This record gives sequence, structure tokens and C-alpha cells, in this order.
Amino acid sequence: MISELEQFRNETLAEGLVKAIRRYDGRPVSIMEVCGTHTMAISRYGIRELLPPNVRLISGPGCPVCVTPSFYLKSALELCRRENTIVATFGDMMRIPYKGASLLTEKALGRDIRMVYSPLDSLDIARQHPDKTVIFLSVGFETTVPVTAIAVLEAAQQGLDNFMILSANKTIPAAMHLLSSDPEVAVDGFLYPGHVSAVIGSGLYEELAKAYGIPGAVTGFDPADILGSILYVLEQIQDNKATVANLYSMVVQPGGNPIARGKIDEVFEASDAVWRGLGQIPGSGLRLREKYRSFDAWSLINGSVEERDEEARGCRCGDILKGKCLPSDCKLFGKACTPETPVGSCMVSSEGTCAAYYRYQ
Ligand code: SF4
Ligand code: SF4
Repeated sequence: MISELEQFRNETLAEGLVKAIRRYDGRPVSIMEVCGTHTMAISRYGIRELLPPNVRLISGPGCPVCVTPSFYLKSALELCRRENTIVATFGDMMRIPYKGASLLTEKALGRDIRMVYSPLDSLDIARQHPDKTVIFLSVGFETTVPVTAIAVLEAAQQGLDNFMILSANKTIPAAMHLLSSDPEVAVDGFLYPGHVSAVIGSGLYEELAKAYGIPGAVTGFDPADILGSILYVLEQIQDNKATVANLYSMVVQPGGNPIARGKIDEVFEASDAVWRGLGQIPGSGLRLREKYRSFDAWSLINGSVEERDEEARGCRCGDILKGKCLPSDCKLFGKACTPETPVGSCMVSSEGTCAAYYRYQ
């Protein structure tokens, strides 16, 4: 154990936490981490292997790319094939496969697809190419949506009419309610995300704990933070309590970041959204408000793509995103499906559960 812990920044603290966690002798429990970066950290530091057999960590829908349904990608592929169009996207979206194609393969065929690091970069591209329509593939949670909202507001102020977004933005609260109430998922505790919580605050989690009796902890990304939050959840379960600890209070305030939420509310309104693995969740999506609808690239799709999520044959991303199985339960894992030859989105995204398992196990 000591050698595994040597890589931890604070070995003594981590060792003490692991010892305390190993003393847990209650019923078998499943604790879900709801954050792609937590999934990566848990795999990277071998935290799963340090836990006793009655404590299981399962991964949830923590990465916006992973939960984006296949019809979104089909729509993005249709858009990039249009005349005089530039598609701008974050890198992870480039490699998501859809029926043998991806944005990367389309780029190789000569379509104008650009990788950007911020939605604001796509505004610059729109300014530089007034004769083309620039479409930003807007896929994110509350963390990245405020910047997309700022991009739309800037485009509106500057009268930039060749800029559009294809929104598959989602919000976490409705999905958390769904996961908490789903008997198939059967979560006993949550490790709540750090960045998303910095925007939405920790109030929602108190609500979940009260409504469903599930304890949780908001946690940072250091291994000792994660171990501390696991220990907190186990103590709650053992004492038959369901409260929420904010162990990342340097970043996460109970009320979150009202300025960032204000930007989202100014530009977007709630809509129903399809999540890969979870299906349609009422009120969990974000679409442009009427005032900004001229920036909505869904108007170019105009109902020609059916809103259906199709899994590639054999791929179990849907079950993995619900914590119903582990990547190693998928027959394609590490064989037909690797980061070089991904079959599903969970193997593509840098925060994807399958990618994390493949990289570190
Ligand atoms: S955006 Fe931040 S909090 Fe959300 S899943 Fe990614 S790393 Fe976790
Ligand atoms: S290993 Fe690949 S095919 Fe299997 S669930 Fe993960 S992404 Fe899908």
C-alpha cells in the first residue's frame, strides 16, 4: 500500500484516510463520482484498488461529450458537409465515431472543421470569414456554457450574423434527480463535481440528500480530497445519515456563481434533452432563448435528423454512464475498442470512463 501511496502529494494524510476507509465494515455500497476529472484521478492514482471489497466506486455521466447522443453527431456531420460552412469544435468531439465517420474523417475529406479552445475562438473565425457560416458545436455543462453565452451576446452586440451554435448543452440538477431515484442505479453515495458545483453551488445536493436519503461530498481533484470524501460518505452510511459535506469550499460556495448563472439565463432557457445512457430528461437541456434564436444552428437541420440515440453495436456506454457496469464488462474494451480505435464516446473523451480505465489499468 505504501508504494501505491508514494505518488500521492500528502502520503501520511492519504495513508491515514485509506486505513480509516478500510475499517468500514458495513453493507456493500456503491459510491458514484459525477465528474470526468474525478474518474481520471481515481484511475490514475489507483484509488479503486485501495478500497475494501464492500466499497465500490462507479462512474456517472460526468463528461458532457460522453453523454451527447448520437443524433447530435449525425447533425454535426450534416452541417460540416454544407457549402460555405466552417464547423468549430473542442478536440474531443472530433473523434467521436458515428457509423464509420467522424469529424476527423470529414476533415481529412476536405471539410472545413477547426479545433478551438473556447467558443470565443469561433467568434474570431466568424469575423475573419464573413462569407462563411461558422457553427460552434456547443457541448457542455454549467462550467463551459457561460462562455458560450458570452460568445452569443458578443455576436448579437456586434451584429455578427454568420455565427451560430449547435447546442447540446446540459445542466446537472435534473440528471442528478434521475440518478438518485433510479432503483437500477442504486447509488448509496455521491462524490459531487468540483467545477460544476462552483457554478451551481452545493444547495442542490442538500436537496438530493433530503429527498432520497443519499449522502455525498463535494470534492476537489487531489487524491487525498477524493479519499476524504469517500470516508465522509462511508461514515454517513454507517451512521444512517444523509448529509452533504463541502470539502472543496475554497472553490465551491453554497450559492455557486450567480454571475455565471446569470449569463446562462440571459441567453438560454431550459428544454428537454436526450442524454446518452439516461434517455430524455425533461428540463435538463439548454436551448437559445427566442431573442437569440437566429444563432441557432438546429434551424439548419430543420427536423431532418431524428432525435434518437443509437449505440454502436456491442458498445455499453449507456450502461457505463448509469454506473450499471464497468468498462471491463464490455466485450469490446481493449480489443476492438481502444483510444486509437474508439467504438463509443466513453473511449474518446479525455474524461471518458472507458478511456480512464484503459489508460491506467
Ligand atoms: S467540467 Fe469539471 S466538474 Fe464537470 S465533469 Fe468536467 S472536470 Fe468534472
Ligand atoms: S469499451 Fe468502447 S465499446 Fe465498450 S462501452 Fe466503452 S466505449 Fe463503448
